[in-house]
Amino acid sequence: MNIVEKAKEEVVSIARIIYREGLVFETWGNISARPTENEVVITPSGIPYEKLTFVDIVTVNLAGQAVKGKWKPSTELPLHLAIYEQRKDVRAIVHTHSSCALAFAASRQDVPVVLEEQAQIVGGPVKVADYALPGSTELAENALKILGNEENAVLLANHGLVGIGKDLTTALQICRIIERSARIILWSKLLGSPYILSPEDVTALRNNFLFAYGQNNPAANS
Ligand code: 13P
Ligand code: ZN
Repeated sequence: MNIVEKAKEEVVSIARIIYREGLVFETWGNISARPTENEVVITPSGIPYEKLTFVDIVTVNLAGQAVKGKWKPSTELPLHLAIYEQRKDVRAIVHTHSSCALAFAASRQDVPVVLEEQAQIVGGPVKVADYALPGSTELAENALKILGNEENAVLLANHGLVGIGKDLTTALQICRIIERSARIILWSKLLGSPYILSPEDVTALRNNFLFAYGQNNPAANS
C-alpha cells in the first residue's frame, strides 16, 4: 500500500471515530490529509459516515482538480486547500460540528484556556473567524486570518470547528480537547465562573508538553 492509500485508510478511520464520538452530526464535517506535496485526500461531500469506506475518499491535486475518486470532494475543499497552501507544517485537517464547541461558535465567543490539556495541546484560546457561507472562499480567507502561521484551531462562526496538525491523530486530538474544554466551561458556568489560566501558565504548560512530557521527548530523557 502506497502513502496515498495509507492516508485514505487513516481518513476513514478518523471519520469513524468522529462519528462514533458525536463530534459530527449527520453528514456534516469533513477530513483531509496531504500525504505528498501535490496530493490531498479528502472525504466526499454528503456521504453518510456509516457508509464511508476507503474507495469513497477523493484524491485531488493542490489546484483542487479531482485526480481519483467517484464522488465530488467535500464542499469545504477550498478551506482545506487554502490551509495547506498557507501552512506547510500542516498535513491533516479535521473539521467537526461538535455541540459544545458550536455553542461557542454560535455565540461567537472564543474558547478560553481553562483546562491544562488545552494549554498543552492547543497552546492558547481558540478564536472565532468572521462568518461566511460554508464552502465559500470567504470562509477559507476568514479562517486563515485566525490560523495565521501558528494557530492550530479555529472556530467557524455559527458553523463548527477546524483542527489542523502534522498528522490526523494530532488534528483529531485538537478537536477532541477543544470540545471537552468547551463542555467543561459550560458546566463550570453552572457553578459560578471558570478560572481562565494566565498567559504565563499557558506558556509554561505548552513548553512542558512540547519539551519534557511523555516518553519520547529528548529533553526529558537527557
Ligand atoms: P461536506 O459534506 O460537503 O464535506 O460538507 C459538510 C460541512 O461540514 C460543510 O461545512
Ligand atoms: Zn461544516
